[in-house]
Amino acid sequence: MALQAWSSARYLIPLPPGHRFPIEKYARLRDRVLAEGLVAPDDIHEPARAAREELLLVHTPAYVAALTDGSLGHAELRRIGFPWSEHLVERSYRAVGGTCEAAEAALRDGVAINLAGGTHHAFPGHGEGFCVFNDVAVAVRRLQHLGRIGRAAVIDLDVHQGNGTHAIFAGDASVFTFSMHGSRNFPFHKVPGVLDIELPDGTGDDEYLSQLEPALPMVLSSAQPDLVVYLAGADPHEGDRLGRLRLSFEGLARRDALVLAACREIGIPVAITIAGGYGRNIDDTVEIHRRTVEIARAFAR
Ligand SMILES: [Zn+2]
Repeated sequence: MALQAWSSARYLIPLPPGHRFPIEKYARLRDRVLAEGLVAPDDIHEPARAAREELLLVHTPAYVAALTDGSLGHAELRRIGFPWSEHLVERSYRAVGGTCEAAEAALRDGVAINLAGGTHHAFPGHGEGFCVFNDVAVAVRRLQHLGRIGRAAVIDLDVHQGNGTHAIFAGDASVFTFSMHGSRNFPFHKVPGVLDIELPDGTGDDEYLSQLEPALPMVLSSAQPDLVVYLAGADPHEGDRLGRLRLSFEGLARRDALVLAACREIGIPVAITIAGGYGRNIDDTVEIHRRTVEIARAFAR
């Protein structure tokens, strides 16, 4: 079975020169997975725009309205880190749509991927840290709302803590939130999830994987999920400008394989989002995401 992927790479956002968000990584990743035949052209889909009602399963009406019509204040936009434009709105709606569609495909195929998303710093009423809407939370809530799933687990292995996701699902016993991240990385005020593993600066492959491996079956057995959403951030890599951990390409690939194997072992579908990645060399970030696609492909049924 071929891996189904969603790409919103053609929805660019105009950024001022020198802006540190690597928006080009999405198109480069799409081009590489196509060039290498990891995903067939017919299996890379353009995401539909998420519906406003879907966003409202997570976000406040005031925030969705202000983001959409361009009336967000200066401070709110600065917190997100992007200038407002129609393009930003379109891309934000499409990126959520991609995760919603990948989550649905995962229920059918075992695994599917959004070559975007993982915007885990978005809260119900505001965005921050390059995150506008919380695609992961919308996808989970939407499938619950449709009666397609009851319980879910979020496995967030981006180097930054998924503070927005944790806040959204706090007190909700149907969603297990697990995050492993750099303790000294943004956000500086962390929001507790069900399970947080905080790692010191410079943590390398062996220490990282030795903590992850036993945690995964524990998370899955407590969560009893019908779906896992996995945030496969590239930013724990040693070459990342923002991440403070020191994982190698191989370590990150082993991480992805551990997550997918643990879920496969007990038959839980996994929707993958690529989340963050700010390599000093953008090709490194693209290479990490490309390997995630390659590994996911081996797990699609
Ligand atoms: Zn990150």
